[in-house]
Amino acid sequence: INDLYGHAAGDEVLKLVARRLRQVVRMSDTVGRLAGDEFIIALTDVADGDVGDQVASKIIEALSEPFLILDAELFCLPSIGITYFPDQADSVEALLRNADIAMYHAKLLGDRRHIAFSEDMAQRSIEMMNLENDLRHALNREELELHYQPKVSGHDGSVVGAEALIRWRHPRLGLVGPGDFIPLAEESGLIIPMGRWTLVTACKQYMLWQAEGIAPDSVSVNVSMRQFTDTSLLESVRDVLETTGIPPGCLDLEITESVMTGNVERAVSILNGLKSLGVTLSMDDFGTGYSSLNYLKTFPIDTLKIDQTFVRDLSHDTKDAAIVTTIVTLARNLGFNVIAEGVESHDQLAFLIGSDCPLFQGYLASRPLPVDAFTEFLRS
Ligand code: C2E
Ligand code: CA
Ligand code: CA
Ligand code: CA
Repeated sequence: INDLYGHAAGDEVLKLVARRLRQVVRMSDTVGRLAGDEFIIALTDVADGDVGDQVASKIIEALSEPFLILDAELFCLPSIGITYFPDQADSVEALLRNADIAMYHAKLLGDRRHIAFSEDMAQRSIEMMNLENDLRHALNREELELHYQPKVSGHDGSVVGAEALIRWRHPRLGLVGPGDFIPLAEESGLIIPMGRWTLVTACKQYMLWQAEGIAPDSVSVNVSMRQFTDTSLLESVRDVLETTGIPPGCLDLEITESVMTGNVERAVSILNGLKSLGVTLSMDDFGTGYSSLNYLKTFPIDTLKIDQTFVRDLSHDTKDAAIVTTIVTLARNLGFNVIAEGVESHDQLAFLIGSDCPLFQGYLASRPLPVDAFTEFLRS
């Protein structure tokens, strides 16, 4: 193993990592660690996806057991970029650049993932770098906007809440959806100021609706994993309650089950902190993550949101129907509210109402609307 970066040579972790990798990597391969758990590997074979996959899988496996350092368990969740040398790069500079591009893509895929460099990846990487750069300015240039989707009662069509969903009005690309920039915002850390902006904007808007006498019971704001674990979240929420004057019970935060996969004690303590401010908490996309029912018991959650993947085929998939009724029963028995998302048809809604889940969100009631259109929707 050649340590590509000399300054890391003294690093205890690196030594331990190197010791493990020596067992699984061939003499001809080069493994380097860029930083933290960012790894690159250079293979001397002709570009062949199978070889890269095999080597990377072995590395991930070798690192899957935690490292014991000073009595602490250290987990390594590597992201690995693979490149073939000299097939894909004719100089060390090109090799490092390509491996780094691949590593960056692996990181966007998540922990313990690997991907091999390709020419289109280089192209996309340039586009992403441009996008990330644009995103940095988007906040100051007021290019971000919130659209709102109603949460509705299926009994009488009344609007009980509004979920804020972020959009980016890009000067060249037009309206960009969150799926195309939230991962980038998370990776770059921009999600933190962006999340703060979203909170403030949604709460201010709620107060405008309240002043006009058309406000629903609450406004919901999405909080991603990275925001959730950031130490500033509690402070941001406290701040927004104070500066906007929104009644705490009218602000709902939507989190996902992923918060249960990290440090559970810490997650519970953050949730309790938020609850003590008086806001309500919804568990978004429920049923798609790694929920442990045991944790659910200890989480101070108010509402379960049934994920739209279960709602989609409700009318003709008996298994989805069973899952939906089971989630409703679970919610009722644990004392949570329950709401279904992604409702597009009357059939789906009829099933939900019959299953004691009358609250829903979905195109059947309305798509997410720009603020003016949503305000009209509330007035009518
Ligand atoms: P989500 O929180 O699960 O939001 C629901 C998504 O489903 C939204 O997509 C919404 O437009 C879409 N949707 C609503 N009703 C229907 C329906 O009847 N049928 C179908 N097919 N889709 C429906 P969107 O707006 O593209 O948002 C995607 C995801 O991006 C959200 O999923 C949420 O996780 C994330 N997101 C959106 N806004 C924010 C934000 O301000 N902050 C953070 N951290 N994440 C956000
Ligand atoms: Ca990682
Ligand atoms: Ca949501
Ligand atoms: Ca959802």
